[in-house]
Amino acid sequence: MTTWKSNIRTVVPYTPGEQPKSKVIKLNTNENPYPPSPLVGKVISNIDLDSLRKYPDPTCDILVEALAKYHSVDKSKVFVGVGSDDVLAMSFITFFNSNLPILFPDTTYSFYDVWADLFRIPYEQKLLDDDFKINIDDYSKPCGGIIIPNPNAPTGVAESVEFFEKIVAAHPECVVIIDEAYVDFGSNSCIGLTDKYDNVIVVRTYSKSRSMAGNRIGYAIGNPELIKYLSDCKFSFNSYTMDTITLAAGVASLQDDEYFKARINDVINTREWTKGKLAELGFSFPDSKSNFIFAKHESKDATYIFEELKKKGIYVRHFSKPERIANYLRISIGTDEEMQQLIEALRDIL
Ligand SMILES: *Cc1c(COP(=O)(O)O)cnc(C)c1O
Repeated sequence: MTTWKSNIRTVVPYTPGEQPKSKVIKLNTNENPYPPSPLVGKVISNIDLDSLRKYPDPTCDILVEALAKYHSVDKSKVFVGVGSDDVLAMSFITFFNSNLPILFPDTTYSFYDVWADLFRIPYEQKLLDDDFKINIDDYSKPCGGIIIPNPNAPTGVAESVEFFEKIVAAHPECVVIIDEAYVDFGSNSCIGLTDKYDNVIVVRTYSKSRSMAGNRIGYAIGNPELIKYLSDCKFSFNSYTMDTITLAAGVASLQDDEYFKARINDVINTREWTKGKLAELGFSFPDSKSNFIFAKHESKDATYIFEELKKKGIYVRHFSKPERIANYLRISIGTDEEMQQLIEALRDIL
């Protein structure tokens, strides 16, 4: 007998990094170790309570306008959502409707295959080479869409804008999504490609570089036609996605660019210091342009190091799949003090 169980959409969900309640050194989810700009705090504490009585602006106009101004693009090219996960999921629904598979790397953000499964989008994962670089020839055949983070996660490896332009130009038959979650930490943005090509969309987040993972703000920049289709899907699903407080906080962050750039610089300096120390301790890693380092030790097992660090109250991220990365740890960049403590802990463990 058939039961309701045969009509369920079953999925294997994405597993987010742990959010421990106790005080630990948290280097496992690529959060920024610094708070957002004080201006963000000021705007949040000055929110008019009466304004919460009403629904938020469904078009998120103040944030769209501020982002357009910040990136010197027209408002019609900007879409905002509840973190880039929301923007990316909506993009999968809107743009990936071909019978041909979509393409993305085998080692990448582990939400892509989860969304593809959830939305029943066929997909193929292309092996990175031994240096975790993308082989452009893997992305040359006609397909249902392409999604690649730049820099890639969890490797931190960045490709050039020219590299992405070749892919975008070769695929007028589909939409190419470039996930720039970590681009602010020292690689080049592909936003400029959205002027020249109508099949590319760049997705950004406030969660890493803007220190606002707790607010959930993501956005996309692309050709106005793509943005319109994306909005149509969003308004067919949930009109009121972003809340009034978050919209104002998102605008405030953009207004304090000096603070933003200074904190990015801090993270980059700490990252480069950490690279040197990790190398001294026998770790190897691809050159990271993000706020994390993807490192493997010359003799000690990643699982062992992961467990020992955890005992010492230091959380990093370990992915057991795919197998080729099972011996790597993804270490987010914290403050200087946190990274010094990490290095000391590693000296004990190794
Ligand atoms: C963190 C991350 C996201 C999600 O960011 P949110 O805006 O917090 O949803 C998307 N893509 C990549 C590659 C990420 O690392």
